[in-house]
Amino acid sequence: LVILGIETSCDDTAAAVVRGNGEILSQVVSSQADLLVKYGGVAPLFAEEAHSQVIDQVVQEALNKASLTECDLSAVAVTIGPGLGLCLRVGVQKAHKIAGSFNLPIIGIHHMEAHALVARLVERELQFPFVTLLISGGHNLLILAHGLGHYIQLGTTLDDAIGEAYDKTAKWLGLDMRKSGGPAIEELAREGDADSVKFSIPMRQHKDCNFSYAGLKTQVRLAIESRNINAEIPISSASFQDRVSRADIAASFQRVAVLHIEEKCGRAIEWALKLEPSIKYLVVSGGVASNQYVRDRLDQVVKKNGLQLVCPPRSLCTDNGVMVAWTGIEHFRVGRYDPPPPVNESEHFVYDLRPRWPLGEEYSEGRSEAR
Ligand code: ATP
Ligand code: FE
Repeated sequence: LVILGIETSCDDTAAAVVRGNGEILSQVVSSQADLLVKYGGVAPLFAEEAHSQVIDQVVQEALNKASLTECDLSAVAVTIGPGLGLCLRVGVQKAHKIAGSFNLPIIGIHHMEAHALVARLVERELQFPFVTLLISGGHNLLILAHGLGHYIQLGTTLDDAIGEAYDKTAKWLGLDMRKSGGPAIEELAREGDADSVKFSIPMRQHKDCNFSYAGLKTQVRLAIESRNINAEIPISSASFQDRVSRADIAASFQRVAVLHIEEKCGRAIEWALKLEPSIKYLVVSGGVASNQYVRDRLDQVVKKNGLQLVCPPRSLCTDNGVMVAWTGIEHFRVGRYDPPPPVNESEHFVYDLRPRWPLGEEYSEGRSEAR
């Protein structure tokens, strides 16, 4: 079993080839860093164009690196949602073209399910059920994974995701956005005093597993304004005192942003253990899970609860094709795939795209119908 995975849901164009036994034969990611710097975020029309420009090349490179041709594939897996419709379409069209031309089954993948399940490629002992925290640019999810395709949402964000808060904080602090905001804040925070700015921890009064980052973002913006930090002056040109000030904000922001996650994660583990006492693992994935501070803090939470932390390597936490191919393998094995599409679909063919696509039903303690 050999599957090609294609991912274009946001700003990375990615493809990978993975074997049924989990062997990664190739992994290619082309990121739109230049566009992010230029537009200060993802601009859908430009992102679509950038995907279209590189998709053929990225897929070809993935096949070349794996020393395979399309004829050697068993199926094509592609992210169909959630994400930007225009961007998803580029990957889905490409997947249909290959699957149609080479008579291959096609597997539509949920981007967040892929972020979670790639942990099963990394950690072979990881069986269902488990708890997973998915933290990225657009999502902040706490999920009880009962089985393949069977998920219960314990918590989500009421406004922004933590990755968005990292990205905005980085932008306001005048950091180098070519690395995306997260890594830039992580690096600068090492220089700062995390207790110097007193940000309040969000949603403490809510005894649930939901998140909110809009308020913390506002607190950070106000702190930056009150210290007269000018984002137009890049940090590389800032004075010593200005740099210290920025580093203190980065460290204080990161501490509170992650404390919020620690608190909600602890509660989610309690809820999940009541529903499924056999749970042994917490899986943390998505772009923000590549942050070492986040990993260290969550490791403490997990240990306190007698569980084990599974966190994929960095390149598998941020968007990638491997997670899509692997999730395709999991679905293919249980017969969940579509037959090869017809060759030469017209311009007007309606693809199955799901820009908004919740992962599992919502659960809240005390709401018995959710079980
Ligand atoms: P989603 O998965 O919600 O659709 P996405 O696909 O755009 O969003 P990912 O690639 O999964 O996002 O994650 C990108 C996010 O992760 C960005 O917000 C980025 O700042 C953040 N991120 C990446 N590395 C780090 C890091 N070291 N520390 C904190 N945040 C990070
Ligand atoms: Fe993602």
